[in-house]
Amino acid sequence: MKKKIIRFTTDYYKVLTNHLAESGSDESFIYGLFSRAMTNDCMTYICKQLVVPDREELKNQSSVSIEPDQVYQALVYSLAFDQGLSILDTHTHPFSTKARFSGIDNHHGMANASYISANFPKTTEMGMIVFGRGFDNFEARIWDRKNERFEPVNRIEVLGSPTMILRYDVNDAKGGKDDPYARHRIIPGWKQGLLEDTKVFVGGLGGNGALVFESLLALGVGSHSGWIKACDPDILEASNLPRIPYARPKDIGETKAKIAQAYAKHRGHKTNVECYTEPLDDAKMLECIKEANVIIGCIDNDGARQTLNSLASRYMVPYIDLGTEIIPEDDKYESIGQIQVFLPGRTGCLMCSGSIDPSSAALDKMDDEAKAQYAQAGYVRGTNSTPTPSVLHLNGVTCHLAISQLVRMLFADGINGKEYLHYNAREASMFTASVDRNDNCPVCGRRGYLGCGDVREISLKSIIPPRPCVSRGIDSPKVGKAVELADNAENEDTRAQVEATEVIEAQVGPQETQ
Ligand SMILES: [Zn+2]
Ligand SMILES: [Zn+2]
Repeated sequence: MKKKIIRFTTDYYKVLTNHLAESGSDESFIYGLFSRAMTNDCMTYICKQLVVPDREELKNQSSVSIEPDQVYQALVYSLAFDQGLSILDTHTHPFSTKARFSGIDNHHGMANASYISANFPKTTEMGMIVFGRGFDNFEARIWDRKNERFEPVNRIEVLGSPTMILRYDVNDAKGGKDDPYARHRIIPGWKQGLLEDTKVFVGGLGGNGALVFESLLALGVGSHSGWIKACDPDILEASNLPRIPYARPKDIGETKAKIAQAYAKHRGHKTNVECYTEPLDDAKMLECIKEANVIIGCIDNDGARQTLNSLASRYMVPYIDLGTEIIPEDDKYESIGQIQVFLPGRTGCLMCSGSIDPSSAALDKMDDEAKAQYAQAGYVRGTNSTPTPSVLHLNGVTCHLAISQLVRMLFADGINGKEYLHYNAREASMFTASVDRNDNCPVCGRRGYLGCGDVREISLKSIIPPRPCVSRGIDSPKVGKAVELADNAENEDTRAQVEATEVIEAQVGPQETQ
C-alpha cells in the first residue's frame, strides 16, 4: 500500500483554516479539489482548488454537526468530474484537541466514497480530513476503491512560506544533553523540528551543490521524518577539488554522488540521505522531485533548470535556484551570484523572471548529434565540455545566501518581495527584487499547468456528469437522496451557485480573488 500524503500551498492552507475558524465553536466544512502525484511508494494529493461555501451552503451547523448543502456538493462534484480531480472534504471538531472521525463521519464518508467510486473515473478519489481545535491535530484518510476501506493519511504538508509539516498523532521528544542542534533550538523562532521533517531535493553536486548539500546536512535537514536526496552523474576531476570541501584527491575518478553519499555517512546520516548518479531527467529523479518539499537547483544549464521549474509548478513544490558566474573583462573580472525563490501559486517562476533563456534551454535538451549539427551551423556558442571559471568563495557566499533564503522561506512569511537576490563580489553589493506572477506565463500563469500533478488538466465536458449525489453530514434527513440535476429548477439553482460560490483556483492566487 502506498503512503498517502496531502499537500497544500501555504496560501491555500490559510484560506482553508481561515474559513474553518470563522465558525468559532461551531463545526465548519469545506471542499477541495486535488490533483495527484504518484510514485512507487507514495500518492500525494495536491490541493488545486478550494471551493469556499457561503453561510447558506452549510446546513445544520452547530458545535457537534455540520452538513454541506446539496447544491454546493453538486457544484463540487461536477467541477471534480470535469477536471478529473479528487475530492477531499475537510471539517472541524472544535470541541476536541485530538481530532478523530466520529461514527457519523464514518457512515456518511463511506456512503460518499461508494458513490464516487461507482460514478467517477478512477483518477477521482475521495478523502476526508478532520481538524481539532487549534488546527495542530488532525485525522485524514483516502478511500481505497479496491479494498473498499479508508486508508490513513499520516502527513499533511503545507508548502511555501512559512512551511508546516503536520504529522498524525506525533509527539516527538526533542533536545537533551547530546542534542547536536542545542544551539539552534535556543534561537527565538527557530524551527529545528521543521527542518528535520522537511524533504529537500538538490539538483547537482558540483561546486554549488556540494556546499548546499554540506550545509543541509549540518543543519540537520531531513534527519527525522524528512530526507535529503541529491543527484549528479558527473565524475570528480582534479579541477573540482578546490570547490568541493569534502572531496579528497583519492576520490578523483569517482562520481560526485558517491563521494557525497560517503561524506553523509561519515557524518552519521545513514538512512535519510540518498545521492544518485542518475541525471536530473531520469524517471527515478522525477519520483524524488514529486515527493520533495523543497527543490534546490544547483545546475548551470538552462535545460535542466527549465525541467525543475516546470516540475515545481506542476507539483506545487517551492524551488530555489542558484547560480554563480565569473565574467572576464579584459584583465579584470566580474563575479556574480544569483538566487531566485519560486513559490508556486504566489510568486513568478524562472520563466517569468527571464532567468531561463528558452532557446539555450532547448539546446541543452538536445542529444549530442543534434547539438553537433547546430554547432556546425554556428548556433552553439559553447559546450558543456568548455571549462567555465569558478572559485570557492563566490560559490560559498551564494550557497549560504540560498540556505538563508531557504530558512526564511520555511520559518516565516518572509519571502514576499525578496524572491530574487543578486550578489556582486567585486562591488561588495547585493540587491533584492520581487518576481511577480505573469498571467500569460506558460508554466505558472492562468493557462499554465500550475498544480496539475500527474495529468495535464483534461476536459471531460463532452461527457455528461453523473448525478450528484449522496450528502454527508450529521443527522441529515436527506442522506442517500440524489439531487436531480435533470430538474430544470435545480439546474438554474446550480448555475446561480456556480457564479455565487467562491472557487479559489490555483491559477488565480488566493490574494487576487479575495
Ligand atoms: Zn466529524
Ligand atoms: Zn511563470
